[in-house]
Amino acid sequence: MLNVKNLNVAFGGVKALDLHGFSVGMNELRVIIGPNGAGKSTFLDILCGKTQADDGEVVFDGNPILGRKEVDIANLGIARKFQKPSIFGSLTVYDNMLLAARMPKGIFKSMFFKISSELKDRIYQVAKMVRLDIHLSKLAGNLSHGQKQWLEIAIVMLQDPKLLLIDEPAAGMSDEETYRTGELLTDLAKHHCVIVIEHDMSFVEQIANRLVSVLVRGKLLMEGSFAEVRNDQRVIDCYLGR
Ligand code: ADP
Ligand code: MG
Repeated sequence: MLNVKNLNVAFGGVKALDLHGFSVGMNELRVIIGPNGAGKSTFLDILCGKTQADDGEVVFDGNPILGRKEVDIANLGIARKFQKPSIFGSLTVYDNMLLAARMPKGIFKSMFFKISSELKDRIYQVAKMVRLDIHLSKLAGNLSHGQKQWLEIAIVMLQDPKLLLIDEPAAGMSDEETYRTGELLTDLAKHHCVIVIEHDMSFVEQIANRLVSVLVRGKLLMEGSFAEVRNDQRVIDCYLGR
């Protein structure tokens, strides 16, 4: 689904990323871990076109994406859930989702549209997936922090992406919400490709379904199962052991 080769990114002469190879398969939930400043967020920025790479090749679903605009990359099916909130607190959960569904790949089309029953069904399905189906008529501003994050995920999912990019999905959540977020991401990965950046190792253990990638100073230190990564001396030395 995603293939990265020799990706280089520098900011003012300082190398932020130097990735020789990285790939993610269909329906894979890949977790990326690594110390602060490792280049994890920069990598997601490159994948969604927010930041441009200096060099390299990134092929997504058969399409080279480096050099393309964010909107073109979104149209190819890569969606990023950003950490800054994008929901309207004074609208209901349903209306937030309806607005999002009417914004194909981030572009608002028209205030005047017919709401088809298919669209309603789709909103309900996505709401169910993010555990908000029983809260559709609630004002989004009255949701808990975790529920707001799930609504943000729903908004991204309504754009029907093939690859979803999420930076620290469980940040600031209660233990219960964190666990449910793990279940939600696991459900998502049944039909989508998901890349998650995460710090909380018990959460990583819950969600990692194939490989965990460890990024250190812009380079891929290793990839392996959760257990392999957790017990790797290099990973312990430069990340986990601190
Ligand atoms: P991580 O998400 O793993 O903590 P980042 O991708 O945010 O790491 O940062 C990687 C490196 O690139 C860091 O040294 C950071 O200071 C630098 N960096 C990130 N974004 C920018 C930017 N827009 N301008 C300059 N330097 C940046
Ligand atoms: Mg980061």
